[in-house]
Amino acid sequence: MDANEIYEILMKRFGQAECELVHKNNYELIVAVILSARCTDKRVNQITKDLFKKYPDARSLAMAKQESLEKDIYSCGFYKNKAKNLISMASDLINRFDGQVPENYEDLISLAGVGRKTANVVMFVGFKKPAIAVDTHVFRVSNRLGIVNAKTPLECELALQNKVDKEKWGNFHHLLVLFGRYICKSRNPYCKDCEFKSICNFYKQNK
Ligand code: SF4
Repeated sequence: MDANEIYEILMKRFGQAECELVHKNNYELIVAVILSARCTDKRVNQITKDLFKKYPDARSLAMAKQESLEKDIYSCGFYKNKAKNLISMASDLINRFDGQVPENYEDLISLAGVGRKTANVVMFVGFKKPAIAVDTHVFRVSNRLGIVNAKTPLECELALQNKVDKEKWGNFHHLLVLFGRYICKSRNPYCKDCEFKSICNFYKQNK
């Protein structure tokens, strides 16, 4: 079974998948994605509900006081680093991009606190451009299914780009995230309810 066949099966299970981070524009999207590192989307959505009222744009976030922002985002973990990165990222937006989130990958990744995963999510979700972001779910599931044999997220991203049709990249990311979040969990995956038992490396080794 190749990656495009796996995509079709996941489409039947989940349908057209959407980003679960609540946002109204690309500023809110990039903030939410930065907060989502090692944190659930549900928790991020709880935090951003009030955070976006307090800091509705890059200018207000760039002026935030580190200590105050840390308190606002405390519950999402790694709050000191995330607060520092958010203020630096917002300052970059003001100083270099007129307060707007840039629409190309190189500019996105040049922003403070923005890595490949965040840049790829913003490219696909925010700008509808082909991009495949690798988070912990995408990395785990695509290795278990043998779509890739990757040791790092970058290796995984490049391998997935080669195996999946370009127009499917962004949605494939969402589908793998949903599948990893709800079925192929890190511990105790629901293998009984899985269509991929016959091809799954993890299942073969652990059944
Ligand atoms: S068989 Fe189990 S481990 Fe393998 S992909 Fe399905 S849920 Fe994940």
